[in-house]
Amino acid sequence: MTQFTDLGLAKPILKALADKGYTQPTPIQAQAIPIVMKGRDLLGIAQTGTGKTAAFALPILHRLAEDRRPAPRRGFRCLVLSPTRELATQIADNFKAYAAHLGLSVATIFGGVKYGPQMRALAAGVDVVVATPGRLMDHLGEKSATLGGVEIFVLDEADQMLDLGFVVPIRKIASQLPKDRQNLFFSATMPGEIGKLAGELLKNPASVSITPQATTVERIEQSLIYIEAQRKRPLLAELLADRSVERSIVFTRTKRGADRVAKYLTASGIESASIHGDKTQGQRERALAAFKAGEVKALVATDIAARGIDVNDISHVFNYELPNVPEAYVHRIGRTARKGKDGVAVSFCCDDERSLLKDIEKATRQKIPSFDRRNDKALAAAAAVADKLAPAEKYVDPRKADPRNNVPSELRRKRNRNGGGQGKSAQGKGGQGGGQQAQGRGEGRNGGRGKGGAQGQGQGKAAAAGGDFRGPKRGVQQVETRWSPID
Ligand code: AMP
Repeated sequence: MTQFTDLGLAKPILKALADKGYTQPTPIQAQAIPIVMKGRDLLGIAQTGTGKTAAFALPILHRLAEDRRPAPRRGFRCLVLSPTRELATQIADNFKAYAAHLGLSVATIFGGVKYGPQMRALAAGVDVVVATPGRLMDHLGEKSATLGGVEIFVLDEADQMLDLGFVVPIRKIASQLPKDRQNLFFSATMPGEIGKLAGELLKNPASVSITPQATTVERIEQSLIYIEAQRKRPLLAELLADRSVERSIVFTRTKRGADRVAKYLTASGIESASIHGDKTQGQRERALAAFKAGEVKALVATDIAARGIDVNDISHVFNYELPNVPEAYVHRIGRTARKGKDGVAVSFCCDDERSLLKDIEKATRQKIPSFDRRNDKALAAAAAVADKLAPAEKYVDPRKADPRNNVPSELRRKRNRNGGGQGKSAQGKGGQGGGQQAQGRGEGRNGGRGKGGAQGQGQGKAAAAGGDFRGPKRGVQQVETRWSPID
């Protein structure tokens, strides 16, 4: 495996990478960095999430640092064009982080903010400018920016530039750049117009392409349910009781959360097991075997534990809690719809998770069709007994806890058959939970259709019509294929 230290990058850059905890380049980085360091033009077919920003930022900073010279007044040595302000900010933040020990300057130029600070930032010259085309054109018109000093030109997300009508401004900007320069061109797709633009801008480019492996995500029916945090468990039980759920993974953020959810489900009469880093190898293996054998309907897992699970035929993924890292969302839902099958991914979102949802929708470039199940009385009633079924308890190291909690199916069946003392937890609680769950299901469905259902359908239609639901086509699938920082 290539390491960043193998690539010959300047020491201060390696230090910045180490500060971020990055040791291994992603595939696009491993391929692109040596090419760009040599000063060659590059055509990169890659999407956000592949690590493409560092793929160009690191070698650019290396080159600028190796050949230090002041940028001309109102000018810059490297120009990165980005289609949106958000991406421009993100790219500039990346440059700043990687340049932390280099003493190189980075500035952003985009619309919607005052000109004054941008003019002042440009006045003395900057090493790297990340700009959106429109505002840069304005600065060029005002002569508050000049392109004469540009040595390296990066066009990022070229296909999105086309969508936003930026091709003409880009051509105008390019016409003012010095002829002798390095060009880097990135696009997720290569429609004809973009191929033509690439042909005009690049000279004898090397090309790297990170091709999506799987298009599975396109087949996943995604939805999101707004729900109060304390009502998630009964809602999950309600959804799991549906016959269409054959085999599911339920993701929680914490190990303890996984245990609590699994315990509640089991008490509600739903075959479940939890799997996470605190379980012994034996416990994990038994839980997995039961899951594979179809004895466990819901495997409750943390992200890390789920990575080792290679099970096909998972009909549903439930994000009981949204992941902290948007990329993990894609990894999680990619557990279903394997081997050409369809799949369903349902995510719960409570008020505290709104910002995580925003990040996920931004990263995957989609709006997940949503339903609102807040203020659902049936769920409220079920939540009230949820704590009785599986109360919040002091954390007990599961390795020291009763192993029977972990592989419920066989043991519980045995316990049920035997009756007696063990039936207390399995039968007694299971019966109670089942009743509660049935109640939640009946009323909950009506509630869902009446209130949230309408909203969800509306958004679903927008998605079907192409609306905002662009994720699977662009943002989502490539994340699945990339080397992942969370692995
Ligand atoms: P990008 O495709 O450039 O938007 O990068 C996607 C995410 O991966 C960003 O959060 C980066 O900070 C992160 N990332 C990029 N390169 C690496 C790496 N080599 N190791 C770990 N994380 C990375």
